[in-house]
Amino acid sequence: MAQGHMIPMVDMARLLASRGATVSFVTTPVNAARIKPVIDGASDAGLPIRFVEFKLPCEETGVPEGCESFDLLPSVNFYKPLFEAISMLWGPLKLYLKQAKPRASCMIADYCNWWTSEVARELKLARLVFHGPSCFFLLSSRNIHRSKVYESVADEHESVVVPGLPQRIEITRAQAPGWFFEWKEMQERVMEAEEAAAGVLINTFQELESEHIALYIESTKKMVLPIGPLSLYNKDAKSKATRGDKASVEEHQILRWLDSMEPRSVLFVSFGSIVKMRPLQLIEVGCALEASGRPFVWVVKEAEKCAEVEKWMSEGFEERTRARSLVITGWAPQVVILSHRAVGGFVTHCGWNSTLEAISSGVPMITWPHFVDQFLNERLVVEVLRIGVGVGIRVPVFLPEEDRVEVGRGAIESAIASLMDGGEEGDGRRTRARELGEKAYKAMAEGGSSYENMTLLIQFPMEQAHNDIAEKGGADAYCHHH
Ligand code: UDP
Repeated sequence: MAQGHMIPMVDMARLLASRGATVSFVTTPVNAARIKPVIDGASDAGLPIRFVEFKLPCEETGVPEGCESFDLLPSVNFYKPLFEAISMLWGPLKLYLKQAKPRASCMIADYCNWWTSEVARELKLARLVFHGPSCFFLLSSRNIHRSKVYESVADEHESVVVPGLPQRIEITRAQAPGWFFEWKEMQERVMEAEEAAAGVLINTFQELESEHIALYIESTKKMVLPIGPLSLYNKDAKSKATRGDKASVEEHQILRWLDSMEPRSVLFVSFGSIVKMRPLQLIEVGCALEASGRPFVWVVKEAEKCAEVEKWMSEGFEERTRARSLVITGWAPQVVILSHRAVGGFVTHCGWNSTLEAISSGVPMITWPHFVDQFLNERLVVEVLRIGVGVGIRVPVFLPEEDRVEVGRGAIESAIASLMDGGEEGDGRRTRARELGEKAYKAMAEGGSSYENMTLLIQFPMEQAHNDIAEKGGADAYCHHH
């Protein structure tokens, strides 16, 4: 129940339904309200999806009423209660599945929802895990965890080489601590639930990270299906514009502004749904954008736009950049913007959805990771795919209390200059990004690798898979090789 997880799963549900599967999408009332236009659109299109809402036990767990997604929580102190509230949905889920007609043949659960494993086992239902992040991240963290490589370094800021990758990639423990690193119990449950699953679906595509996918299959001995980029399921402007939430600016307004700009001249700046910048850092970004002299679309969250920021914006910034800026306060229709030909660069926090959306649009990136999987995604973008320029951050920042500048305007400005400027290096990055965008499109089109994986998924004998795994007591029973 976070935008970065909901959005691709909703795309996946619609894609499955459009390919002939009957889908029940389980969520909670606040999350369903956010995607009301998507739900209506699916019903108008005659897609066989039922959106099922379970009430989240907020009161019982201390989650503030209405805060049913991680971005809505007032502080990190509510993260654990929200996980607990979500896990309490096992009861309603089990009941629903018991009564569902026709009987479900398979359950697809976000990897965070470890508790679905028990429900699936009791109901003798095949269960697949859906992973939102890159396979590069999944493989790296798996290898780091299994090799215990961090145990050899005392300092969490000392670099180690990620074992078992085809490339030499260095990372620090602070940058890639692993899922739920502080919550050992939850980490173990998530890993157990993944081991017990009949297979793994990943929002990526074969041509993007084929070596890492092959190594991940070898390591997990599971059916692993790359089925993305799922955002490409949205073809028209309306379905792109309604992903995740209602956009705070009408899409035609944005399109009109982008249409008036030169191709590949605009920088798009947005940090996903969870990162919230404090005023000093936010203003530093604004100063760099102003100094860059380039046109930009900048997404500032409601929660970031405090009095200090508003004052700074109205005292000159807006005036000076008016002719070449579009500042969106609130939720932006990100894929509408990224897929417009005027956009030539993306300043991103390297959340995997954002990264993959940029790749799908052939847009190179300035990488500014903050936490969880983002530093490893940055390594993939900058060092392996070579379609990004790092802003130079080394130490993760997770919803900081303290208001201070982590990345100065000079560093941001020089990353912008290097990404957007002509020259051999910039051209190379742009060409590689464009080629990957074409491959992404082909992967999702009829006959493409992700399209065929989706066919395989729908035709897969799920009941059989479940029984075999239950009988043989291990996921080794089902090992799919491409
Ligand atoms: N997003 C959006 N509008 C916004 C902010 C985010 O549409 O104003 C979407 C974005 O396109 C992506 C998702 O929200 O699909 C964010 O997921 P990501 O994995 O990039 O980052 P997270 O939010 O999980 O940190």
